[in-house]
Amino acid sequence: MSIRERIAKVYQQIPSTIRLIAVTKQVDPQRMRETYIEGGIRDFGESKLQEALTKQDLLGDLDNICWHFIGHLQANKAKKVLSHFQWIHSVDNLSLLQRLDRLAQEMHLQPSICLQVKALSDPNKFGWTLEELRLDISELEKCQTVQIKGLMTILPWGLSNQEKLTAFSAVRDLAKDISKSSSLSLNELSMGMSGDYLEAVTSGATMIRLGQGIFGSRE
Ligand SMILES: *Cc1c(COP(=O)(O)O)cnc(C)c1O
Repeated sequence: MSIRERIAKVYQQIPSTIRLIAVTKQVDPQRMRETYIEGGIRDFGESKLQEALTKQDLLGDLDNICWHFIGHLQANKAKKVLSHFQWIHSVDNLSLLQRLDRLAQEMHLQPSICLQVKALSDPNKFGWTLEELRLDISELEKCQTVQIKGLMTILPWGLSNQEKLTAFSAVRDLAKDISKSSSLSLNELSMGMSGDYLEAVTSGATMIRLGQGIFGSRE
């Protein structure tokens, strides 16, 4: 199957309102170009800063690409990520959030971000637990410049379909709860990868992040 056909197949399974982010780690720029031209993709997700910068350079002639940073973000790379990505999905702790907020203000940027949460206490090391995020709400509300748009999650491997649905729904319910009880509007849910996007969409995902489901398996 071609990239275009794989993308078309995904779109047959999900509402057209869902934002499909093509996760292009280890995908070479030529295939990304094909994804843009043939597949109509404008949202690209990268998890390694240096790899992303190289590709952004090589694809600089393509208009209207929205770059999403989805990998673990070290504090010392925050500035560079802010200047090269419109979205950061992987804001996984309060001090990183506060740093991004300060830097964005200095840089006159208003990045869109998601807070990364762990739906289950699991091997996925990064992110707030759902309980921890509730405790930080008043701190989140103090952010002035970053646009906190929603929550992001990555589920551990090996869950049943029912467990996936339960975990994604818990993230959705938390976003709703916080939106109701605070000044935050967590309308975006970045959840679902190649192995679990159908369950994520059923549970209310607004953005899915697909790599292997579009490009074939990674080494
Ligand atoms: C790699 C990656 C994805 C995509 O995973 P696939 O299984 O290839 O779809 C999604 N989100 C994050 C954060 C990733 O690192």
